Amino acid sequence: MTRSVRRLALALLVALAPGVGAMAETIVLKADRYLDVGAGRMVEPAVIVVRDGIIAAINPAVVPEADQAIELPGMTLLPGLMDAHTHITADVSRGWQYAAVRRTAADYALVGAVNAARTLQAGFTTVRDLGAAHFADIAVAQAIESGLIPGPEIIAAGHGLGITGGHCDVTGFAPGVLETDWHYGVADGADEVAKALRYQVKHGARVVKLCATAGVMSHEASVGAQQLDAAELAAAVAEAGRHGLKVAAHAVGTEGIIAAAQAGVDSIEHASMLTPAAARLIRERGTDLVFTLYLYEAIDPAMLPPAMLAKGMAIRDVSRQSFQLAVQENLRIVFGTDAGVYPHGDNAREFATRVRLGQSPLEAIRSATLYASELLGVPDRGQLREGLRADLIAVPGDPLARIEALQSVGFVMKAGRIHRQP
Ligand SMILES: [Zn+2]
Repeated sequence: MTRSVRRLALALLVALAPGVGAMAETIVLKADRYLDVGAGRMVEPAVIVVRDGIIAAINPAVVPEADQAIELPGMTLLPGLMDAHTHITADVSRGWQYAAVRRTAADYALVGAVNAARTLQAGFTTVRDLGAAHFADIAVAQAIESGLIPGPEIIAAGHGLGITGGHCDVTGFAPGVLETDWHYGVADGADEVAKALRYQVKHGARVVKLCATAGVMSHEASVGAQQLDAAELAAAVAEAGRHGLKVAAHAVGTEGIIAAAQAGVDSIEHASMLTPAAARLIRERGTDLVFTLYLYEAIDPAMLPPAMLAKGMAIRDVSRQSFQLAVQENLRIVFGTDAGVYPHGDNAREFATRVRLGQSPLEAIRSATLYASELLGVPDRGQLREGLRADLIAVPGDPLARIEALQSVGFVMKAGRIHRQP
């Protein structure tokens, strides 16, 4: 290649790469203020220097010469948001119940690629994806990781693990249609749970999802009955520990919440029927709670069969009360949405729902940054601090005064690359 051709090829590569802003350059961001989530205060003004994908300096005495200077007047800079519960390859559109027998792995991955881009544009730079078919979630995660497509960093579970006929199984079809087994996460007994888990890890899972109880969007009669028993839960926690992976347990009913906490899972998802006794146990065990509450406002009732709609309605109010109990008891709450049940990209609407139910705006933001970084095992992000990964967003105005500002993200940077700007 001649030099000019090589230069042209390089320019083309840069132009095609997802997200603009090449490495090894200095980017200076200027906004009205930034949120120090650790200290819990706004700092004015905000001059943040990013170099090689890392936050190099915050409000330095001397601002270095910038390759790229970005002015964000009237805006607040925050750490990139994290969602601890998404289903990036799923969507609830007409006929969604038949996706399991109609969609191929490629179909799911393409849907996931589109949803990942929407999620990143909404300011979510890291998500934990809790359950998908055919390892499509892991394919999307790896395509993002390799720079093929834009999206948040995805910590994916592969198939969620649960009992035959349970919430993590595919239900609603005649016998013989899409029979599942441990490859798909359907496992009965401690040995099979361990085997199913090992298979997910073999194919790239970075977190383990368990269905400890029944749920809304599956065909069991109960909405919250315990499904995995104590021995199966314990086997999963022990096996995950040997792989250095954390465990997220879907648990709607009280018995399943208690059993999952006793087994030592890292987070309980939904936690719809929390009681004072369960709350005490969760405090003792230090279990994180990932509520998903906006979905009760967002889900289109016309999309659900009547029995599922009835199950959802049965736990809507008690889910809100459980969240309020957790806020009162000062339990550690991490941000999650179940996006996929409603359109990806609307994830930040969950913040306003939580604040309306009594959580402070600061705690709501901490749940999606500071606390999420611990639960997701990514200590290199979650705060705006020198030396951390440059995952930053900017929103108009002051989100502590108006939490809905998080729904209007105007600037997104992930690991130093700009994916959105005014
Ligand atoms: Zn879910």
